[in-house]
Amino acid sequence: LLERQAGRESNARAYPRSLPIAVARASGSLVEDVDGNVFLDCLAGAGVLALGHGHPELVAAAERQLHTFVHGLDLPTAAKDEFTTAQFEMLPAGMRERMRIHFCGPTGANAVDAAVKLCKIATGRGDVVTFQGGFHGSTHAAMALSGLLKQKNNVANGVPGTHFFPYSSCHACPLGLRPDSCEVNCAGYLERALTDANGGVNQPAAVILELVQGEGGVVPARPEFIRRIRDLTRELDIPLIVDEVQTGCGRTGTWFAFEQYGIEPDVVIASKALSGIGLPVAVILYDERLDVWEPGAHSGTFRGNQLAFAAGVEAVRVIRRDGILNNVRARGEQLLTRLRLLSDHQECVREVRGLGLMIGIDLVHPETGAPASDLARAVQVHALNAGLIVELGGRENSVVRLLPPLVLTEDEADFAAGVLEEAIKQLAP
Ligand code: PMP
Repeated sequence: LLERQAGRESNARAYPRSLPIAVARASGSLVEDVDGNVFLDCLAGAGVLALGHGHPELVAAAERQLHTFVHGLDLPTAAKDEFTTAQFEMLPAGMRERMRIHFCGPTGANAVDAAVKLCKIATGRGDVVTFQGGFHGSTHAAMALSGLLKQKNNVANGVPGTHFFPYSSCHACPLGLRPDSCEVNCAGYLERALTDANGGVNQPAAVILELVQGEGGVVPARPEFIRRIRDLTRELDIPLIVDEVQTGCGRTGTWFAFEQYGIEPDVVIASKALSGIGLPVAVILYDERLDVWEPGAHSGTFRGNQLAFAAGVEAVRVIRRDGILNNVRARGEQLLTRLRLLSDHQECVREVRGLGLMIGIDLVHPETGAPASDLARAVQVHALNAGLIVELGGRENSVVRLLPPLVLTEDEADFAAGVLEEAIKQLAP
């Protein structure tokens, strides 16, 4: 099955090559391949499966909706209304009244496009400020905003007016500073560029960022960096878009990561885990004062998905009922504490970073400090053979990433950490 499919599938699809298994079935945090091998899934549909594969209560909700009706055009429906109510209840109380929701879809990248279009229409400006190492999706516009060159090197020109600024990646400071001599100069650099009338950057329509860069190698921003950008954008009346496609829906231990950074964005983008079980849906939540676009300004046949709405309502209910966010914080701490011991003993582990259940092990060549993508790939293969699915990321693909279901158990976390410790011990140069 694997070989037949690999022979037919396009080169652009990477997963069958990096994870050479064909999936037969999946349940909870486990995936079984066609040969009967069972894997702990610490990729979870790239962070989509908040409640794991096939959570019975979410499946039942989606199934009820399947038998009621599937496509509701853009009309109000009970499923949409309940989903909207659930999403607003998860926002900090102070934001609920002033936010609006727009259904995009069905992917995160489409919502990124919508967010930027909205800010361009609302401000009448054209430029967008974004950050090195960021990732916002694969549509043409979302890709243009992404600061990972490898993914767009073959696509000429991008979108004009996109300006890249340094992100607070302290492990590899873009300004070449050491953390002990740093005064968050990356934020200072942006402040100076945007307040200098002749600084080469027009007043932008928006600043867009991730609070933890995911594809960029699991890089949590420094809180001071984010707070200064929030103050600056507020002062200059520039909408701040926070891309929570990966960090949202509980992944970092709060519903949205911005809650932990003590800021309130003007636009929030959410997608991946909104339905809890992998049904496609994407939204933007935005301040009412930006709500000036005309009907039809961002349309699409699959905007809004009734099955995902029904499952998503259930996901919020189960996450609250079962205290899943507490589990995310506890399992995240457990994994970080244990994996950080690796960086004390293994020179090839530069850093173990993360927030909640978004964790990355940053691997380097000890002699040179250069990113060790070959070692990361070997660790991924070793892990797969030992029954663990993990992903790679980072600018050089040298960061081993974990994005497990939010319902990961203590034993499963122990198993994942054990496999990775063993892999790194065996493979370390
Ligand atoms: N933004 C971020 C932060 C992401 O991590 C991703 C996907 N990895 C996207 C946008 C794009 O989402 P999608 O793949 O659903 O288009």
